[in-house]
Amino acid sequence: MTTAICPGSFDPVTNGHLDIIERTAAIFDKVIVAVLENPSKEPLFTAAERRRLLQEVVAHLPNVEVEYFQGLLVDYAKKKGAKVIVKGLRAISDFESEFQMALTNKKMSPEIETMFMMTANEYSFLSSSMVKELVFFGGNPEEFVPPLVAAALEEKLKHRRSGK
Ligand code: ADP
Repeated sequence: MTTAICPGSFDPVTNGHLDIIERTAAIFDKVIVAVLENPSKEPLFTAAERRRLLQEVVAHLPNVEVEYFQGLLVDYAKKKGAKVIVKGLRAISDFESEFQMALTNKKMSPEIETMFMMTANEYSFLSSSMVKELVFFGGNPEEFVPPLVAAALEEKLKHRRSGK
């Protein structure tokens, strides 16, 4: 059985993430979506909220699990018996840091492969931060995130906007 890991902060999950997760689930026996507990940027959603939203939007994929991780990704992958890390690539701007990270991981754990999946054309510009900004300024995110994520964003940012 081949297990792949899709890591990220998912703050919150977007249709771009979901597309990568669905395509990865169609290739590998099992996919673990690994939610980074403490991203360097202060997240809008707690790790538990990010995980719950992900669990709901991947509920139709029987071979996908959502878990938390912290520390080194390669250590986590080894612990889970996963041989492959799958990352989505949006633009040339993603390439440099992903290249560095993949080579560092390869150096530490040569038995683990990083594979890149090209974004779908319609999501190439999409990022969690863009969606947060859009909602903060009153825009409608329905084209970019699943409906329950749009509702969670609206709820969360309503409080921020009113300063509570
Ligand atoms: P972000 O960079 O939006 O904060 P994450 O850290 O949550 O995202 O990213 C998790 C993974 O999903 C990364 O491999 C990232 O490149 C990928 N990803 C994010 N958005 C998209 C998208 N629109 N299309 C393809 N891959 C994406």
